[in-house]
Amino acid sequence: MTKSKEGIEARVERLHASGIIDMHFDLPMDLCEKRAQPNVLATEFLPQFEAGGMGLIGAAIYIEDRYLPERGLQVALDQIARLYTEAEQSKCCVVCRTHQEISSALDSKKVGFLITMEGVEPLGDDLDLLRAFYELGLRAVGLTHARTNAAGHGGIFAASGSSPEGLTPFGGDVVRECERLGIIVDLAHINPAGFKEIVDLTTKPLVVSHTNSRKFYDVERNISDEQINMIGQRRGVIGINSVLVNPKQKESTLDRYVDHIEHVANLIGMDCVGIGFDFFEFIYRQWPESKKKWMAEKLTTPHFIPDLTNHSHARNLTRKLIERGFSDNDLGKILRDNWMRIFEELL
Ligand SMILES: [Zn+2]
Repeated sequence: MTKSKEGIEARVERLHASGIIDMHFDLPMDLCEKRAQPNVLATEFLPQFEAGGMGLIGAAIYIEDRYLPERGLQVALDQIARLYTEAEQSKCCVVCRTHQEISSALDSKKVGFLITMEGVEPLGDDLDLLRAFYELGLRAVGLTHARTNAAGHGGIFAASGSSPEGLTPFGGDVVRECERLGIIVDLAHINPAGFKEIVDLTTKPLVVSHTNSRKFYDVERNISDEQINMIGQRRGVIGINSVLVNPKQKESTLDRYVDHIEHVANLIGMDCVGIGFDFFEFIYRQWPESKKKWMAEKLTTPHFIPDLTNHSHARNLTRKLIERGFSDNDLGKILRDNWMRIFEELL
């Protein structure tokens, strides 16, 4: 059958056959919270990864407020330990540290994990610990989540009002050390002043693992056209987030998700946009109402896209991109190849 006669389903199948890449998922936290249960990865997550044709997932270490400051380091180590144990037990997942290991995982049809850190709270203010985490497999670091820490300030979920201050001296040291060690610097969540400072401090490609365009959802946690251009000038990659595509729930749809992809590609090219789903519904669902209320007051209410709430839905996105006219070449870049270029250049 010629490609032009190939049906949409066959096209989706072919595009997912080499494995797709999502650079942000709060997996280690959930595995760690459920450590009393056996095979959580294999039973709760792997079926979804396989249904979605996932090849590599950025597995983010994130420390909840209730553990800070005293237990940040310990919980981070527990999360990494749990990820390695569960990956080994699953027999189908593997933690990757290099471009070569990621390529091998994709070739062998395993699901690879790249360990990332969302907020450097586990380091306290000890730069030596960054090296220790690197040895444990850490390969991408975002300095902050929404809160302030020893490295800098997060962007808030409002159109203005984030701290006007940039990084702390420690934050600057972490960024420089990431570049030296070969850790990807991730600008997701950092406030606008910190974002600019990181761009000025670094020379290599920068990424924003999971974010959205402020054109469609104007909060400082997302990124402006000016910031998108800064990433493009460095030939970085921006991963599009699924939970902040629109301030309204009813406008949070697959089409609106694709609008963000198109917007970034129109500004800085098809080589600089990828996926950072940030699927969060499975955690949110487990929360008591009081915690959901806390999140709505302190951060925001996440708006889940009904047919894009977990990895088993990944093919819905590919179908939508095909429907919207993206070529196979574009799709390959968005779903996998752009992130692979970053790994090849930096890891
Ligand atoms: Zn995040």
